[in-house]
Amino acid sequence: MPSGPLLVFGPRSLEYDFGPRHPLSPRRFGPGIELLRAVGARPGLAPEPASDAELEWLHSRDYIATVRRFSSLARGDPRIGSEAGIGPGDDPPFPGMHEAAATVAGGSIRAVEAILRGNCEHAYHPGGGLHHAMSDRASGFCVYNDVALAIARARHDGLRVLYLDFDVHHGDGVQALHYRDPGVMTVSFHESGRSLFPGTGFVGELGEGSAAGTSINVPLEPFTGPDAWLAAVRAVVAPLAAAFEPGLIVSQHGSDGHVWDPLAHLSLTTTVQGEAARLVDRLAHSYASGRWLATGGGGYAVYRVVPRVWALTWLAADHRETPLELPEPWRARWAADAAEWHEAPLPGRFDDGPDLPPAETLSSRSAERAKETAALVRAATVPALLSVAEDRGWWRFEGEVSGTWSGAAPAAEAPPAAEAARPPLGDAAPQAATAPTLVVPLMPAILDRTRLARRVVAPADPEAATSILRAALLDGATAAATFAGEWLVGLALAVPEPLGGAGAGAGVARLAALGVAPEWRRRGVATAMLTALIGELDRAGRSLVWLHTVAERDHLDPLPRALRREVAERLARYSAMTTSPAPARLASIDPDALVAVHPHAAAPEETEAHIREWLSSF
Ligand SMILES: [Zn+2]
Repeated sequence: MPSGPLLVFGPRSLEYDFGPRHPLSPRRFGPGIELLRAVGARPGLAPEPASDAELEWLHSRDYIATVRRFSSLARGDPRIGSEAGIGPGDDPPFPGMHEAAATVAGGSIRAVEAILRGNCEHAYHPGGGLHHAMSDRASGFCVYNDVALAIARARHDGLRVLYLDFDVHHGDGVQALHYRDPGVMTVSFHESGRSLFPGTGFVGELGEGSAAGTSINVPLEPFTGPDAWLAAVRAVVAPLAAAFEPGLIVSQHGSDGHVWDPLAHLSLTTTVQGEAARLVDRLAHSYASGRWLATGGGGYAVYRVVPRVWALTWLAADHRETPLELPEPWRARWAADAAEWHEAPLPGRFDDGPDLPPAETLSSRSAERAKETAALVRAATVPALLSVAEDRGWWRFEGEVSGTWSGAAPAAEAPPAAEAARPPLGDAAPQAATAPTLVVPLMPAILDRTRLARRVVAPADPEAATSILRAALLDGATAAATFAGEWLVGLALAVPEPLGGAGAGAGVARLAALGVAPEWRRRGVATAMLTALIGELDRAGRSLVWLHTVAERDHLDPLPRALRREVAERLARYSAMTTSPAPARLASIDPDALVAVHPHAAAPEETEAHIREWLSSF
């Protein structure tokens, strides 16, 4: 496999042009591609139009016909009206619009095909990222949704896709086009829809039916700064990737969240935007066998911001350190253009300095809100075992490539860790005919002689799950387990929850995981484990609390949303737990969230109040 990412750019990339006064201007390719060349990137794939058949994977035939019709009209033609989102405003028609938009789509589709064939691990398409386009209408400068189509291409090969969107605008089109597909997880960080186009992307948009929990949104208030933004990104993407088991990551690196961007109100820096790209690279190597398509996106500070974020994204994909200074010839070449477009002076470095963002563009209230929102999204969408494991230091995402950014290690050698470590597919391994054995309490030493079956608990990689389980047991957790021969095929795990301050809640445990391997489901295994776990906790004087959200599901074959709640309710009832609705904030985004409690018979009176207080923190 040739080393280095594939850069997608060619002469036809410039054809996507809404006119000289439009903010999404092909002018950006001048300074952008030149800076990419200056850091060593060379275009390796020149986009050509996607076929109609390809566009029809996600766009309606009528819509494509409408775009073609607009495309054939000359500028100023009196027949130009408004239809399907095309018209005066954000998405004005232009001659050749169909071919130009299809070319952007073609670039992203061909890039994914290169990755699928193994021609490259990573590809970067700076002209891509048109994430607002819908099935039957243009929106927000986007005619055809190249990123959603790239995802669809990978889905045709059966790959599960994790989509990460860092543009300041909600990735609404990609979310909508894959909203019902449990094999696509979309995660978008953006300025809140209350203050910015397209007005969507709220935390409650979680996905539909069996796909519930695969649409994740982290809306941020205006004047959110770089630290709060990056903390929000870090709070959710790694555990989601660890649980979801993607075969490909597609990301959108719009640079319009930058404090200098004229169209929006976040206060980010190139530094954190580059950090986000590096995080995605590490996720790709750790969880997606290295397969990663990065795209550009929005970005309207064409000289001061866009080229630097493009270069930083490329450098992340090329596993290279960020050089300090921008090349002097590049600055000299673009200084006058920048001045003409009111973007002078050009910055001196790739990363922004400590003077950015200026204090007056930051809101501490927005930073606080970002933290709360990320915590809420995490509570609803990250499997409890992973968030508890991270909070208690049993698990931390490190990534595979972080230590090797010298340019020396070829990307091709990064280990497809997850693939190699997995036992032969869980479906075949534990024999469902074997009589299951319930083991309570589970002692850590047993884990050395047994293997955890797939799809019992998150994370998806059984080795990682085993190491979390071992750490939990050594740290005071209690577990009931079901074995079939040497295979651990079911697990109920409770972790002590120090509620209500020092000592007061020592008698309460949280159910952090409850799962059964596919072959062993619907046989009462979960009820038996939960009942046994409660018995074990009873003997230790502990009550049990279970907070069940949309995050708790079989990631490969999730049940429909309502059925998941039904199953949880039934399990709780059979195990003598009392169910109640989830805390208000959590319930407002996940209406099927459920709380179940089994109070210890001799629990002190204040236990219930402590439990309620703990729940209200979600
Ligand atoms: Zn990489």
